[in-house]
Amino acid sequence: MAQEMEDPQELWAQCLLNIERQVRPQSFTNWFKQTSVSHFDQDLLVIQVPSAFSAAWIEEHYLQMIQSVVWEETALTPNIKFVVAQAPQSIGHQVPPVEQGEGDSARDEQEVIEAAPVQSLNKRYTFDEFIIGDSNRFAHATALAVANSPGKTEFNPLVIYGGVGLGKTHLLQAIGHHAYNHNLAEKIVYVPSEKFMRDFVQSLQDRNSIGEFQSFYRSADILLVDDIQFLIRGEQTQNEFFHTFNALHQSEKQIVMTCDSPPGHLDGLGDRLKSRFIWGLATAIDAPELETRIAILHKKAERNGIRISDDVAALLGNHIRSNVRELEGTLISLMAYCSIHKKELDLEAAQHIIQEQGPSPSEVSIEAIQQHVADHFNLTREQLVGKGRQRDVVTARHIAMFLIRTLIEGSHFTTIGLHFGNRDHSTVIHAVNTVGERYQNDPSFARLVEDLSNTIRRQSR
Ligand code: ADP
Ligand code: MG
Repeated sequence: MAQEMEDPQELWAQCLLNIERQVRPQSFTNWFKQTSVSHFDQDLLVIQVPSAFSAAWIEEHYLQMIQSVVWEETALTPNIKFVVAQAPQSIGHQVPPVEQGEGDSARDEQEVIEAAPVQSLNKRYTFDEFIIGDSNRFAHATALAVANSPGKTEFNPLVIYGGVGLGKTHLLQAIGHHAYNHNLAEKIVYVPSEKFMRDFVQSLQDRNSIGEFQSFYRSADILLVDDIQFLIRGEQTQNEFFHTFNALHQSEKQIVMTCDSPPGHLDGLGDRLKSRFIWGLATAIDAPELETRIAILHKKAERNGIRISDDVAALLGNHIRSNVRELEGTLISLMAYCSIHKKELDLEAAQHIIQEQGPSPSEVSIEAIQQHVADHFNLTREQLVGKGRQRDVVTARHIAMFLIRTLIEGSHFTTIGLHFGNRDHSTVIHAVNTVGERYQNDPSFARLVEDLSNTIRRQSR
């Protein structure tokens, strides 16, 4: 999708938003906030940094991440160079200001409320880009049926459930794209359930905005709710969702949801909602079989204008079995490696990447991190997530939250709070920032955190 080149600063600002999601707030402030670019095309990206030291540091610690981010955002794999900017005080003004810790929630806030219908959808998540195999054939077919006749099929609501990284969000958003592109619905709202909850809570806090909240969600022609397992947190939110659901369903508007398990198995979800969810259809996505994994690899490579041989696809497809997101990540690393080192993208390069590849962060579970940190501090996991305020318990708890945030891609403050006895997301933000600051200033503490992080990653292999 290497369309005509956009403004380099714009492209970079877009990449920075993505980078901000991947690194700690403090690191973002230290290393990225002051960057700008002087050149950005398919061959070369020149990043301006304030000092030679930061150039060296960023290159050593963040080069690979920058490559994948650039690829994700622009589908380009340019060579990346760092240069020291001439006038450091004048650079960086194009970069959006960073609100520490709150960065991502502030950003999603804008996504849905202000966005025109489908702007909050990821452009890549369309039916065209989705590879069909036995593991997802039925889910795909029902999603397509719903996208073609929103609100008019028996599949209302449609619930798509399955494990992490298997394409649930992709299919959910594909419904939105399809209906929008074929003029089958005017107002399409995509919302992760955590955001639904945040918006709702916010609307209760800002006087008079509950009406706005309700009319926004209840006027959707298609409501796409991602990861409803997180709805279980609040009774009031569930209640509000129940009414939103009824209002939409009664007026034959389409509701589609994703979930990490069959909705009937969700402990903590009220019976009223459960009974609604089985009015329509629940359909599973399973881990893709080898042929599908190989087809996905070919497709993703093709999108980037390259072709990979069958033996390379088979090697990667055999190596990563259970998660499509990781399969994609490995292919990106491989492309970046070959482009930087000017190597052929062949079996040898693929073998190299597989050997080099550390354990994949997304295989680490929240529970595993909690257990590991608890063990290290001689606590039980119950103590770690409990209410105890003794100093070492609090330190351990903060470190665990920090590690979850840094090791598990896409982990939200709200989600983390849920796993620590329903703590509020602001508590988690505070904990993560506290650890981040101490990490910068206290070398022995930094070593402890790094050691824990490394062992967790090794064990999750
Ligand atoms: P989930 O929501 O189930 O955790 P996602 O929908 O975010 O997973 O998918 C993770 C990544 O894998 C996305 O980049 C998505 O495009 C890709 N992906 C998953 N399944 C497929 C598929 N069948 N065909 C093409 N890409 C897929
Ligand atoms: Mg998802």
